[in-house]
Amino acid sequence: MKNKLAVGLLVLAARAWSDPVAGSLEVHWNAGAEDCEKATDAPIQIHQYEPQTIILRQSLCSNFEAPLLYLLIGEDEALLIDTGATEDAAEMPLAKTVMQLLPDKGDGKIPLLVLHTHGHGDHRSADKQFAGHAGVVVVPPEVQDLRTALNLPQWPEGIAHIALGGRTVEIIAAPGHQPAHLIFYDDRTALLFTGDFLLPGRLMVDDIEAYRASAQRLVTFLGDRPVSHVLGAHVELDNAGELFPSGSQHHPNERSVALAKADVLGLPKALEDFNGFYSKHDRYVVTNPKRNLLVVVLGVLLVVTAIVWTWRRARRRKKS
Ligand SMILES: [Zn+2]
Ligand SMILES: [Zn+2]
Repeated sequence: MKNKLAVGLLVLAARAWSDPVAGSLEVHWNAGAEDCEKATDAPIQIHQYEPQTIILRQSLCSNFEAPLLYLLIGEDEALLIDTGATEDAAEMPLAKTVMQLLPDKGDGKIPLLVLHTHGHGDHRSADKQFAGHAGVVVVPPEVQDLRTALNLPQWPEGIAHIALGGRTVEIIAAPGHQPAHLIFYDDRTALLFTGDFLLPGRLMVDDIEAYRASAQRLVTFLGDRPVSHVLGAHVELDNAGELFPSGSQHHPNERSVALAKADVLGLPKALEDFNGFYSKHDRYVVTNPKRNLLVVVLGVLLVVTAIVWTWRRARRRKKS
């Protein structure tokens, strides 16, 4: 009897995850160009992962950040994660592109919710393009707005659920790169969208304590959830694992965007070992740009002081 009860409790504890809908990441993203004046790439490239999951990417020549945006379509509603780096619709017609991708409903389109991985300008700049589109709600990437809209009163603790109809997206807060950072898990595809928090490139630390706590919370959240791919918002590594120079608009031999659950599970240790400035790992680099800038400024000051001191000494010697 006791055994039966134990088995029953075990069954209750282990939630069964249904097989994720498969998709394809077979895509050759435009590589940008050394001279973007001569480039002819469209400002937005579209890749269908599966019919209800669309990946959009702003081209490198449109903006060096080349952010990846994700559109998740449910039976009742759609969710757009991020709006890219360019405000002007003439330069990057994001709202028009997304509205065309949405399924029809009645006289219009299914409702669209726009959320962001975080509040940096390369992820939110086209928000205004959605103004005036009926059925579109844009939640600003600010902690106060998100706390209310996602019903996360204990921010950054808690899990938000967005039901899109036939698929549910779970969201956790993950400050550390930026205070209003979110991470999204889609139960249809088992894709995990990690924004700038985890990507094949530079993980830019703003608040290391918050970053460490978020990584730990993310690992706990994932638990036994299946993860098909971890998709960040940028790709900054080539196939050999080397970083493209900051600001480069040319990414020859770019690595795939996809990381794996193992990369998430390894993140707490990588952040624990972070020396505060720069540490390189196989699939990403952890860096604190503010601190590195401070070191450069201090270095320059030191060199200038040394030059002035030597020059003065030499002049004094001459005079005597
Ligand atoms: Zn960012
Ligand atoms: Zn970014």
